[in-house]
Amino acid sequence: ARAAAAAAPITPGALADGTPVPILANLGDPSGAAEAIALGAEGVGLFRTEFLFLSSNEAPSVASQAASYQELLAAFPGKKVVVRALDAGADKPLPFLTDADEENPALGRRGLRSLRHRENVLRDQLTALTQADASTDADLWVMAPMVATVEETEYFTALAKELGLKTAGVMVEIPSSAIMATDILGVADFASIGTNDLVQYTMAADRMLGSVAHLQSPWHPAVLRLIKMVAEGGKNTGKPIGVCGEAAADPLLAVVLVGLGVTTLSMSAAAMTDVRAELSQHTAASAQRMAEAALAATDAESATAAARAAA
Ligand code: PEP
Ligand code: MG
Repeated sequence: ARAAAAAAPITPGALADGTPVPILANLGDPSGAAEAIALGAEGVGLFRTEFLFLSSNEAPSVASQAASYQELLAAFPGKKVVVRALDAGADKPLPFLTDADEENPALGRRGLRSLRHRENVLRDQLTALTQADASTDADLWVMAPMVATVEETEYFTALAKELGLKTAGVMVEIPSSAIMATDILGVADFASIGTNDLVQYTMAADRMLGSVAHLQSPWHPAVLRLIKMVAEGGKNTGKPIGVCGEAAADPLLAVVLVGLGVTTLSMSAAAMTDVRAELSQHTAASAQRMAEAALAATDAESATAAARAAA
């Protein structure tokens, strides 16, 4: 019986009415792939690449990066794998890439800004990804962190395509890109909402600072309204919209995100089972009602209560 239970397939993420909601994993290292697959990951929605860069004083070679990306992609044949370009700076400082003398590193040269400043690091990373892609069967998507403008979107997607990658998108984690989502999605193939930073920048509350923790909820209607703008940008352009921040790991909020129009959810492997179970309890119509109730609230607590009451 134990063997039968272990072998029972985990059904893909879906609402009660059958609407598919792919459940993808956030990974910080290829070694997490096996656990994510065992827990039913339908692919990878966020592969953070910082681990490759943290242990050394310079960027890793193309060959060593390609080996890690290949290990990851080989674990997900036929599945979508979204790899994020290096996100250095602010909460992820890197000695060889980050300016140490910034007064406000979260508002400084971080994410795509730091890669653009040292474009050879970005070119090497994208080249390594193209090489790994050529020798595996996963559906590789690449995305840039901390994108603020349409022009940055054009820069990143053009470079990714020049270097041989087929699908290139951006993270939406700055309010400017949520507001400009339709324009950004006119250029990018997809967007993935990073709610950890989107909350930080919307509420002007440092994600590392306990004294402002009361402002850091992704349930805040200001954040939900921005997410809705991104989802509408996705509808306007026919492009997929994921969420890969911590918000997707909160089962009730996951339903609200789908109700707002988000098409895929990515989270730590440990959260996938509970999120999948909650999604299966709600229809698309109910998720939309929950989203509308949360959007109409004036603070995070009442948004949560309103979504629960509408469920
Ligand atoms: C986010 O900001 O929500 C995100 C997924 O990226 P990170 O947590 O790595 O900044
Ligand atoms: Mg982020």
